[in-house]
Amino acid sequence: MRIVPRRRSRQLAVGLAIPIALVLSPLPSLADPVPPVSAVPADRQPAGAQNGVALIRIIVPDQAGVDRLNDMGVDLAEYKKPTDEGLEVHAVLSPEEAQALRDQGFDLRGTISDQSDVAENQAQRRQALARIAAAEAADSDKLTVLRSEWFTNTGNQRFLSVEVKSSAVDAETVLTVSWDNGPGTEPGSGGTATMSRFTDAGQYMYHRFNSPLPINTAPSKVTITSNRGGTVTVDVKEWLGAPQKAPSPHYVSDFVDHYMDPTEITERIVGLAAEFPKISEIVDLPYKTNGYRRLAQAQFGGTGAAAFYVSSKVYGHEGGNDITFAATNPGSANSPLSVAVNGKAISVSLGTDAAGAVNSTSKQVVDAVNASAPAAALVKASLYRANTGAAVAPTAATTPLTDGLKAPANISREPFQTKAIRIGRDRDGSKTGVFLYCQEHAREWVTPITCLETAERLLRNYAHDRTTKDLVDDLDIFILPVTNPDGAHYSFYDFNSQRRNMTNHCPENNGDPGRRNSWGVDLNRNFSVGSLTDGYSGASASCTSDTFAGPAELSEPEAKNEVWLTHQFPNIKFAMNTHSYGGYFMWPPGAYKAAGRELLPRVDFGTENYFWDASSEILSAVQAWRGTGIWPGRTGPVPDVLYSAAGNSADEHWYNRGIIGWDFEVGADLWNPTTKRFEPVGFQPPFAEGHQEAMEFSNGQIAILKVAGEFADDGKRPTSSLVKVSSGPGTATFTFSVNEAANVYYTLDGSKPTIQSTKLEQAGMREGAAHITVDKNTTVNWFSVDIAGNVERNYDPATGTGNYSSKVVKVG
Ligand SMILES: [Zn+2]
Repeated sequence: MRIVPRRRSRQLAVGLAIPIALVLSPLPSLADPVPPVSAVPADRQPAGAQNGVALIRIIVPDQAGVDRLNDMGVDLAEYKKPTDEGLEVHAVLSPEEAQALRDQGFDLRGTISDQSDVAENQAQRRQALARIAAAEAADSDKLTVLRSEWFTNTGNQRFLSVEVKSSAVDAETVLTVSWDNGPGTEPGSGGTATMSRFTDAGQYMYHRFNSPLPINTAPSKVTITSNRGGTVTVDVKEWLGAPQKAPSPHYVSDFVDHYMDPTEITERIVGLAAEFPKISEIVDLPYKTNGYRRLAQAQFGGTGAAAFYVSSKVYGHEGGNDITFAATNPGSANSPLSVAVNGKAISVSLGTDAAGAVNSTSKQVVDAVNASAPAAALVKASLYRANTGAAVAPTAATTPLTDGLKAPANISREPFQTKAIRIGRDRDGSKTGVFLYCQEHAREWVTPITCLETAERLLRNYAHDRTTKDLVDDLDIFILPVTNPDGAHYSFYDFNSQRRNMTNHCPENNGDPGRRNSWGVDLNRNFSVGSLTDGYSGASASCTSDTFAGPAELSEPEAKNEVWLTHQFPNIKFAMNTHSYGGYFMWPPGAYKAAGRELLPRVDFGTENYFWDASSEILSAVQAWRGTGIWPGRTGPVPDVLYSAAGNSADEHWYNRGIIGWDFEVGADLWNPTTKRFEPVGFQPPFAEGHQEAMEFSNGQIAILKVAGEFADDGKRPTSSLVKVSSGPGTATFTFSVNEAANVYYTLDGSKPTIQSTKLEQAGMREGAAHITVDKNTTVNWFSVDIAGNVERNYDPATGTGNYSSKVVKVG
């Protein structure tokens, strides 16, 4: 029951005729007002004159380093990769920002390059072994294998991924993995490699490979050996690769052929809803954005001690762009400072001394402009950043103020009406709801076309494809392709690295035009659960930081719209927040407090297993498009695989409304078979690559709908059994096994189990079920409940009627 679009179909739709070059070009049009050179200090300048703002690779020793960057508001990509030296992260930095980080001792590398390889691992291993050889032999450690998998990636290259926890947590513990060449072959015949030690917030987590190891043959078993004496051999499972049902021969897909701005995307979904009125409609979200608009500004005196700037009172398109400002030496001695306004032309006649030299200070000019009623009706004058304005004011030829915005006139400067498309045969709240949303972050250009592709596949295949019809008939699907339209317009036309919305919350000392690319709120940090104000890590209070959480929780209309949708349609049970890049599949919790790495509550064991089971189905569908295998090491709760993100939307939906929420990072690292390295793709890859990412992750979004459909249809009761693990003198240890993702509630005192009884937990991060030890013969009573709420054996835990399970565990 999977949808695997393989054939490409040419379904022409509105908007496809626009030449790609027009859409992709963020260069300023010559017809637009160009600010005077002095008006835009070297900082984060608009696209086309970015002065080296670039995606830069940074190596930090550990997660604390990532947290520090995060807390400083550094604009990090949603990407993190372990290296032998620590962790590799990518940041969007201006040269000044990069220098500031270097000055603080951060290790910046010029280019985004790849992970270290096995040879480096081997070198590390030799060094560590040499150190250990000199040390006394330690007791054997216990090795717990968390995951042991092989999978394929593009080009059918196979990879091995192993995660192992040693009971010896110290840094000198070295784990070596060897594997065979498949069933019946010699142990170790496939190869040997050393693992890397993974630590986070100062804590040892487990050992793993820096990136999955390329292998030739699928192994059947791996043996892990520790220099501390521990050894363990386990089976290797195949990760992903679940068989995909062939699509109906009528199945059509591939509806995007260029990156699309929010205006185009919105027109397209409006057109789709009009074309398919029986199974779709547009939902207008109630909170309009602030709009793709800015005040018009001009700055004088460069960035020196006399620098000041003026800002229009109305937005540029409302007349601010028509204002001009001049400051002149009157050419006579002992002339007073004065301000004159003629229409929208402001002229300052600077004061002079007895020798005819200008003696007005910048502060005096700023005060005079603001004190002049006709001038103050047009503009507000401000000193630049920390300037006190004591220096003599500069003269200035007549200079037009400008909002600096370069989008063509068809891009509205008014508050944007954000629209979602709702798809389903029965849109009355009776069906399980799924909320797919994209482009919270403006520069992640692949994400809106992913959401659009999914909407169009559902609508255009409904009449001909049975699987699609089942999804549309059984679910209530809300697709929001562009969550952050203002920021996205800005990213397309002005500053391609824009992440946030466009709303300027900065006070005057950060309100100058040189800061125009540093304003805005990070919408995925503006939510109310595990937020910055709650003390969680990974968001900034600085209005110029790219992870600025905003002036308050849920201050921004874009964030309010998401919350409104989930309140308005309480049938929504699933959500998917699609970002880029790196190829991640994640779920809550998404944030922790840095001190002690105190996480938001982890989901319970049954739900965690549900996430993993669904991962396999969803990521196999991603893989079916062109072979991309999302790494096991990039699958899991957000803080386990990436970093803490205070106030993100998936946590909002899960902790406040119980919505099972996932995050995608589209754009998995590409395996380069020539260099034998994984290479990161960035935010805006060439469209040929962006298109492939949209297609494969649309497969993933459709698979999420299938998972939701299975949840809606799930009437099957789980079954469970008690599994004895070991017994010794006076003790016995057991756990439970369940046939599907479900929670087990149990008692050890002979009483009837209820929903308040002890719940089976997981033994630890990425580990299996906890083991329970008793010290006398014990009657264990229990039942299980799956995620859809089906209770084992028709037991009613509220009233205690019906059958629960019972077994006596005897001590040895
Ligand atoms: Zn993002």
